[in-house]
Amino acid sequence: MVRQSPPVPMLGPLQITGQSRDHVIVREGVVLQPAAMVAFDKMCKAAAKDGIALRSASSFRDFDTQARIWNQKWRGERPLLDKAGRLLVADELTPKARVRAILLWSAPPGASRHHWGTDLDVYDQASLASGQRPQLVPAEYVTGGPFADLTLWLNRHMGKFGFYRPYDTYRGGVQPEPWHLSHAPTARAASRRMRPQTLLRALSHSQIDGKTALIADLPQIYLRYVRSVDPAPTVLG
Ligand SMILES: [Zn+2]
Repeated sequence: MVRQSPPVPMLGPLQITGQSRDHVIVREGVVLQPAAMVAFDKMCKAAAKDGIALRSASSFRDFDTQARIWNQKWRGERPLLDKAGRLLVADELTPKARVRAILLWSAPPGASRHHWGTDLDVYDQASLASGQRPQLVPAEYVTGGPFADLTLWLNRHMGKFGFYRPYDTYRGGVQPEPWHLSHAPTARAASRRMRPQTLLRALSHSQIDGKTALIADLPQIYLRYVRSVDPAPTVLG
């Protein structure tokens, strides 16, 4: 018997920008589109057989949650880091520089791939002491880090389940994020529905810090930070 994968929905502007969540389902704390959930479940089972307790640190995130992260970074209430991971002082930066600094590690509200229900940040629970939480920093995922085996396992197997890393290489915008995975079949469909005007509309109606600077810089930001990602491999697996 061939089990059909759940259908891939065509997302509307509210879903694409995280202002609606009717495209996602929740299972044991993981929030994804149904097809991505099925694929992630299968990948977790396969990883478990190899001794890796694959877990999601963050899956679907709505506009308001992304806005909270954005505002905290703008105000310096959450660490604002430069490319090398050094702490920046938010107050010392011009509005434009502050926007660009946030964008190195966080998407603008409305532009996060986490809104789509197709993407998630993963770690290996088996490699952490009890009570320890993943930090989601590159050092954890390279040789010598607690998630080095997870990185190798994903390199080898994630394609079979439809997953890839959209932030694998530095392309002039977002820093590489070895923990961030996309489910290609659902993410491809979502990506096709994303438009600069959709993002502009969502931001215009919001109350986020730095809104004027962000909107003034939006055409550049859209190309460099939103659209500049690694493409899904044409043949996965
Ligand atoms: Zn992520």
